[in-house]
Amino acid sequence: MKFFIYLYYCLLLFSWSFANAQQEIKIIGPNNSILGTVDYIQENRFYFSLNDFSDILLKKNFVNTDLQKIVFSIGNNKVKVTGNIPFVIINDKPYQLKNTIIYKKGVFYAPIDDFLELLNKRIGTQYSINYNSLSIENKLESKISLTSSVDLNQEKKKWKFDTIIIDPGHGGKDPGAIGYRGTKEKDIALDVSKRLAKKIERNSKTKVILTREEDIFVRLQDRTKFANANEGDLFISIHTNAAEDRRASGFETFLIGPNKNEAAIKVAARENAALELEGFSGKQLTNEDLIKATIAQSAFAAKSEEFASLVQNEIKKRVQSKDRGVKQAGFYVLMGASMPNVLIELGFISNPNEEKKLNNSSYRDMLATSIYYAVLEYQKSFND
Ligand SMILES: [Zn+2]
Repeated sequence: MKFFIYLYYCLLLFSWSFANAQQEIKIIGPNNSILGTVDYIQENRFYFSLNDFSDILLKKNFVNTDLQKIVFSIGNNKVKVTGNIPFVIINDKPYQLKNTIIYKKGVFYAPIDDFLELLNKRIGTQYSINYNSLSIENKLESKISLTSSVDLNQEKKKWKFDTIIIDPGHGGKDPGAIGYRGTKEKDIALDVSKRLAKKIERNSKTKVILTREEDIFVRLQDRTKFANANEGDLFISIHTNAAEDRRASGFETFLIGPNKNEAAIKVAARENAALELEGFSGKQLTNEDLIKATIAQSAFAAKSEEFASLVQNEIKKRVQSKDRGVKQAGFYVLMGASMPNVLIELGFISNPNEEKKLNNSSYRDMLATSIYYAVLEYQKSFND
C-alpha cells in the first residue's frame, strides 16, 4: 500500500512538472492577454495549437479534417493553414515557414517562433512569446524534460547521436565521372569514405556503417533504405564532380531541394544517371517530386544545412581548392532519408590539376580529416 501511495505522489509530481513547464511558454497578445501556450514539442521545436489559438482569438474557426485544413481570421485577414506542410496562406498569398505545421488527431500545431513572426510581419500583429523567467539553459532543459515525458525511449534515441552512414558514391558497373587521365569517381569516393570511417571509429564511440565497402554496384534508393534500416543519425554521400569545362574546380556540399540553378541541376542529373543502370531510364525528378521530398525532410533540413556548412568550413581550412559553398538540388540518393543528410563533391576530376590532387593519397586523407572534424563539431550539439 505504501508503495502505491509513493507511486501516486510520483505521478502527481511528474504530471505537475510537465504541465507547469509547458505553460511557462506563452503567446502574449494585446493588453498582455494570453493567446496560447506551447502544447507540443518535436525535434527540439516548440509548437502551439492553432485550434486553441483561433478559439481564443475569435471563438470562430473552420476546420476541415478530411482536407487537414484550418481557416481563421485575425481582424480582416484570412489565414489558411494545411497540416504537414510548411506553407501558410494569408489573404490568398502563400508564405513559407521554416518548419512544417504538424497535424495530429484534428489539431494543428504551428511552430511558435516562425508562425508568430510571419503574422507580425505580414499582418502587423504584435504577438510576442513569453518564456517567463526561464533562462536559456532552463529553456533547453524544459524542452528536454517535456520531450522525455512524451515518449522517453523514442525521444532518447532521437537525442542520442550514435550511428553515421557513409555512402561512397557509385561502384561496380557505375564508375561515376571519369577524369581527364582516367581516374574513376567510384575509386576516389570509396577511398575517402574508408579513411573517414577509420578516423571516426578510431577516435569516438560512434558507429560507422558504409553503404558499400568494395567496388560493387548499389542502387541509389537502396542506399537511403539501408541508412534508415540501420537507424543512422547522419547520412554522408561522397562524390567527385565533373564538368564539360575543364577549368571548373573546387569542392561543394549539396542538400536535397528544388532545383534552383543550371549548374546544380547538371550535378544532380549526373549523379542521378545511375538510375539508368537500374532500369529507370529517362526517369528524372520533377520539381514537384522535389518539393514533396523537401517537405518530407523539413524536420532535419536545419541540421543537414548545419552539417553542410561545417563540411565546407573544415575543408576550406585544410585544402587549397575553391570553396563553391553549400547548394541544393534534386539528388535521388538523398530522397527518403529519415535523418540529416548531405552529398559532398570533393573536387572536379574533369580538371587535370584537381584530378592529380585527388590521386594523391595525402590530399585524400586531408579531405577525410576535414569531414571528420565537421562530424566532431556537429556531434557537439548532441552531447551538450
Ligand atoms: Zn557521383
